[in-house]
Amino acid sequence: LAAAGPDAASARDASDAAELLERREASLAEVQEHYYAAPPRIERGWREHLLDVDGRAYVDMVNNVTPLGHGHVGVASAVNAQLRRLNTNSRFHYGAVVEYAERLAALAPDGLDTVFLVNSGSEATDLAIRIALAATGRRDVVAILEAYHGWTYASDAVSTSIADNPDALTTRPDWVHGVDAPNPFRGVHRGADAARYAPEAAARIMALAAQGRPPAAFIAETFFGNAGGIPLPDGYLAGVYTAVRATGGLAIADEVQAGFGRLGHWFWGFEQQHVVPDIIAVAKAAGNGYPLGAVITTREIAAAFRSQGYFFSSTGGSPASSAAGLAVLDAFRDERLQENALRVGTRLKSRLEELATRHPLIGAVHGLGLYLGVEFVRDRGNLEPATAETAAICDRLLELGVIMQPTGDHLNVLKTKPPLCLDDESADFFVAMLDRVLTE
Ligand code: PMP
Repeated sequence: LAAAGPDAASARDASDAAELLERREASLAEVQEHYYAAPPRIERGWREHLLDVDGRAYVDMVNNVTPLGHGHVGVASAVNAQLRRLNTNSRFHYGAVVEYAERLAALAPDGLDTVFLVNSGSEATDLAIRIALAATGRRDVVAILEAYHGWTYASDAVSTSIADNPDALTTRPDWVHGVDAPNPFRGVHRGADAARYAPEAAARIMALAAQGRPPAAFIAETFFGNAGGIPLPDGYLAGVYTAVRATGGLAIADEVQAGFGRLGHWFWGFEQQHVVPDIIAVAKAAGNGYPLGAVITTREIAAAFRSQGYFFSSTGGSPASSAAGLAVLDAFRDERLQENALRVGTRLKSRLEELATRHPLIGAVHGLGLYLGVEFVRDRGNLEPATAETAAICDRLLELGVIMQPTGDHLNVLKTKPPLCLDDESADFFVAMLDRVLTE
């Protein structure tokens, strides 16, 4: 690995671990706590492989931002060429930005043909909410609160991150109305009737309308990524979208995490629910790590928003970001990444399920494509979460060269969302290391 990829010779000499950590802590404001007892110090990457400053190699099983993998030459060259030509913002630019918007719209369902370009997933979901508010002239939003939509004011307001505790410093604003998630990790016993959740959400929407506060939108992820890879129950979105539209509101699909091919299709989440949203938010995979996000909606909704609301971003959808986005779309086609995600992901899932037959600590394997969650339980009977064990497994896997991330309410699910170029050899290495850790 050290010799692989472009710029291999530029790898810096290993520096003193304690000194690097000290410098990082002194200079960077970090809010999220680290899940590793001893975090790795990554220097560079190539495809699904990472190298730390001491020259140790890892398989990156958690990087959902780079579907093409690290160090992708096509994206690097496209961005470089565009930066040399022009990277002023897009107002008077007709090249990469327009081509990217056209190609993105072509991926979306018919009728969703107007694109707003932004820098990140949080900006995309924030803008999606603001578009819905302005286009409908309303002020309320209904959300499945057990999700994550971003860190900006509006995207955070509809996420789990804000406490519903009235004494908390940051409380959820009163324009957000949460509905329960049909998610087995959230106070819902597995096997409970998932069918009741859509009618409950629909009833909530109708009740708001009856109170004279019909919501501007319903926002949801179409696949619960942070819960560990849980698809919505069949028919869920159809039921809720029908209700919100019946009251004149809009359906927003947050595809920032699940969209763009990780599940084998551009938009598996709403496609398999047989619905078409009014507004789609994408980001993450779109730029392969380059800052790029987008909102895709109809011409009519975009026009209604423009007459009431404001949007301009100095760097959103810059020519260089758009060039990255175009290179990503080319690579998806040329490298057949969605096919790879489905093939490698299906094989990986069955190998993990085989591990589960031998290791009772694995309660279940969730997800599909290259978004899998391995759930660890102390007792399969009552599904008691094995939180401490999951942290220990994660730490030990790091020592053996696999980077993972605990997730879910009880941090007892290891998320598996590697670059979509993951090959069988790396997938098998991960399974072999997990087998070894569980045996130990
Ligand atoms: N929506 C979803 C579903 C996400 O998973 C994330 C990021 N984890 C976001 C929005 C926010 O994206 P970003 O971190 O690019 O702002």
